[in-house]
Amino acid sequence: MKEFFSIAIDGPSGAGKSSLARRLAEAFRFIYVDTGAIYRTLGLAAFRRGIDRKDEEAVMELLPKIKIETGYNEAGEQRMYLDGEDVSEQIRLPEISICASDVSAHQRVRTYLLEMQRDFARKNNVIMDGRDIGTVVLPEAELKIFLTASSEARARRRMLEQKNKGIEENFQDVLREIEYRDKQDSSRAAAPLKAAEDALVVDTSDIGFEESFRLLAELVVTRLSPEREEQK
Ligand code: C5P
Repeated sequence: MKEFFSIAIDGPSGAGKSSLARRLAEAFRFIYVDTGAIYRTLGLAAFRRGIDRKDEEAVMELLPKIKIETGYNEAGEQRMYLDGEDVSEQIRLPEISICASDVSAHQRVRTYLLEMQRDFARKNNVIMDGRDIGTVVLPEAELKIFLTASSEARARRRMLEQKNKGIEENFQDVLREIEYRDKQDSSRAAAPLKAAEDALVVDTSDIGFEESFRLLAELVVTRLSPEREEQK
């Protein structure tokens, strides 16, 4: 019998995965794992060293030379470290989003980072968000949610999120970046962004955060309660 429960949340950028997953993790006392942050840290490393991110061989050569680590601060927030340096804020810059999407398109890069992600689920109850969690990383997850929304709704949310961090962005630029990543993430050969066959698809274009949260929390309760009962 499995010792820990896993919840996979996949979907395109800006669909609200991370804020919803974080809140669900708090409510159900699971740990939240943001897998995009791992690709972002690698993207930042490639950017800093001027490596051609589209060149799989060059990115593979970089991987063993750097140390990507994940930690949690006292507030339970995930932090990312690159060679010991806390890069949690820098990886959120828009140019690093593109770098993350570029480096994550390589199959060998994805394979290299797979065990690091699975390890969290072996040792904890996890809510993990990304693009291929339900399809590749945790195909046995007890609950799989595919969270989506129109690209305009996602761009508006992303702008607001950045504004709250003091970063002003232009709507058209954000929309363009989202559409670039959507296209690249969905059309790549390696683990493309798509809903797992057994995922529940939730469209949040017309519903706010609180309503989305209630909806997902209900799904978690419905799906996990019988399993928890069985374990007793
Ligand atoms: O989730 P986030 O937007 O931070 O992810 C940054 C990029 O990392 C995505 O655009 C995607 O290309 C890549 N990614 C991925 N697989 C994951 C998580 C993120 O390919 N599981």
